[in-house]
Amino acid sequence: CGIVGILGRHEAAPILVEALKRLEYRGYDSAGIATLNAGVLDRRRAVGKLINLQDLLVHEPLAGKSGIGHTRWATHGEPNVNNAHPHQTRRVAVVHNGIIENFRELREELATKGIHYETDTDTETVALLAQSYLDQGLSPRDAAEQTIARLMGAYALCFLFEGEDDLMIAARKGSPLAIGHGDGEMFVGSDAIALAPMTDKVTYLDEGDWAVITRTSLEIRDGEGRIANRDMRTIKIDT
Ligand code: GLU
Repeated sequence: CGIVGILGRHEAAPILVEALKRLEYRGYDSAGIATLNAGVLDRRRAVGKLINLQDLLVHEPLAGKSGIGHTRWATHGEPNVNNAHPHQTRRVAVVHNGIIENFRELREELATKGIHYETDTDTETVALLAQSYLDQGLSPRDAAEQTIARLMGAYALCFLFEGEDDLMIAARKGSPLAIGHGDGEMFVGSDAIALAPMTDKVTYLDEGDWAVITRTSLEIRDGEGRIANRDMRTIKIDT
């Protein structure tokens, strides 16, 4: 299972798929990507190997220079297209590795507001919760912060928001996550290997960290919401 994210200068879809291929060694049962094209979120998902997602993208391409991608190892809900990530609502798309342990409580809370789930996954709850905060008028950044604060369990997460072509929010708890620094581009990956063709400059999130990422900036906060300074390293990986 793996996560990738790109705020780039080139078409994101092929780069996302190639980055996911570099995470194939982790195992997965389905895969998907979402991009922002002129501010509009759209996604493609397929069961099985990445070649199936690539075939789908040939027939139904996804344009856009910002995007997130995922290979799934199902823990909650069988491996089918509906349960594959990214999970998407009107204004937010989310990829997740790990398990949200309190998703049933969160589901019940959302149900009292008339918000109902459509997949069998724990992850969808994260997208629905973020959407509910957006509906309350919170900014994408604040909605993500409030959402992350509600989550129990283990996760690597990456959020992409409708209308926000220069913003990704990533979070790490119990599952590693690396931010890659490009030249006017930024990347997210489950590990630096995924990002090696794009950059060798990487900042690892610490346990409990979350990050607000744009093409030209990276702001990392710890679990208490304090600004956290994490070193950028130059890594050496054979591409
Ligand atoms: N728990 C999530 C799911 O079953 C994420 C699984 C993963 O780590 O790929 O969809």
